[in-house]
Amino acid sequence: MEDEDRCGRRASCMSPSLPVVPVAKPVLGEEEAEAVRRVILSGWVTQGPEVAAFESEFAAFVGTAHACAVSNCTTALHLALMAVGVGAGDEVITVSHSFIATANAIRYCDGVPVFIDIEADGYNIDPSLIERAITSRTKAILCVHQLGMPCDLRPVVEIGKRLSIPVIEDAACATGSEILWDGNWEKIGRSHGDIACFSFHPRKVVTTGDGGMLTTANPEYDRKFRLWRQHGMSVTDAVRHGSRQVIFEDYDELGYNYRMTDLQAAVGRVQLRRLPELIAQRRRLAEQYRERLSTIPGLTLPIEPDWARSNWQSFCVRLPDAVDQRAVMQALLDQGISTRRGVMNIHLEGAYSGQSSHRVATSLKRSVAAQRQTIVLPLYAQMTDLDIVRVVEAVRSSLAEAASLPAAVQHDRDIALV
Ligand SMILES: *Cc1c(COP(=O)(O)O)cnc(C)c1O
Repeated sequence: MEDEDRCGRRASCMSPSLPVVPVAKPVLGEEEAEAVRRVILSGWVTQGPEVAAFESEFAAFVGTAHACAVSNCTTALHLALMAVGVGAGDEVITVSHSFIATANAIRYCDGVPVFIDIEADGYNIDPSLIERAITSRTKAILCVHQLGMPCDLRPVVEIGKRLSIPVIEDAACATGSEILWDGNWEKIGRSHGDIACFSFHPRKVVTTGDGGMLTTANPEYDRKFRLWRQHGMSVTDAVRHGSRQVIFEDYDELGYNYRMTDLQAAVGRVQLRRLPELIAQRRRLAEQYRERLSTIPGLTLPIEPDWARSNWQSFCVRLPDAVDQRAVMQALLDQGISTRRGVMNIHLEGAYSGQSSHRVATSLKRSVAAQRQTIVLPLYAQMTDLDIVRVVEAVRSSLAEAASLPAAVQHDRDIALV
């Protein structure tokens, strides 16, 4: 009965009575179900009144003039880059240390992602590397608020202003995160950069199944988003539907179908109302992690600068250099704790092996090291104190176990067992 897994551990050490702790879990309940029911029975199911209401509530929440809902954050990034004029051969400065969609969106515009490294003590863009990556082809800076932690936005925005280069924020993970700006705590998306793009995928803090949002203070950008998300159609469905006169529409520009449905928007509105409580809960849990994990030698905890308030979409810890990431993750899984590798590096993927797919402007050493040494621990609003203790103790024992074997030996054994 005792099957050995790839790391040579016995399957029986995974107690069947303990439920698995997942890495993330959306908070969806009766209210969301009721909201969808209401939309279905209303008969208007896409880009209608629920989308319009979600947009104005989201704009009010982040504190900016315009919010435009789209199908997901990847399509939001595509439209944002189009709006600032990224076209064939144009360069966009960003990080490789991000989810692949960040750079893919640049390539949808036939632009070239230009990768620079992350900061020394976190997982966000190092603003001091931006200027050396700028060329005459630089059309935008695309910074990422990775894992929900605001990046050091102030110097990024200053460089953008000084050199007239638009700044787009990939805020996929940062709904509800805050940054100290001119002495006030402000929400990410309050148009610090020119455009911010959000995701409502189930791995994020609030979800609509899939979904995205663009926020901007610029009415002209907002007008373009609305045109392009609906096939470039000159008249919206709502206007045509409400008109007493026959209206013929035009299609003067190439557009896309990047619409959000009213089913999604209705869920989003409930999620947005829940958000302050969800974030408060996440911040409490992150604090618990911080306290309890600080007693584990060699483990590096995430840093929240004093000008940032993370929504703690993900709690990412860095393992000691000598231990094997995969072995620790496997040992945790054997104890019923699900984890993920930290953030990926886009330039290491096959889709970026082509010469013209990107340009590397600085050493990416920190990015590569971060991918090799970090893991994301479970964090979701329904977690109990007991769950936290269970994860922390499992991390402690897994690290002790992994540290008792040199990484090279672990790796060889791993390979021998494949
Ligand atoms: C999740 C994520 C995206 C993609 O969001 P989708 O809504 O799934 O398209 C883009 N960038 C980052 C940094 C992300 O974490």
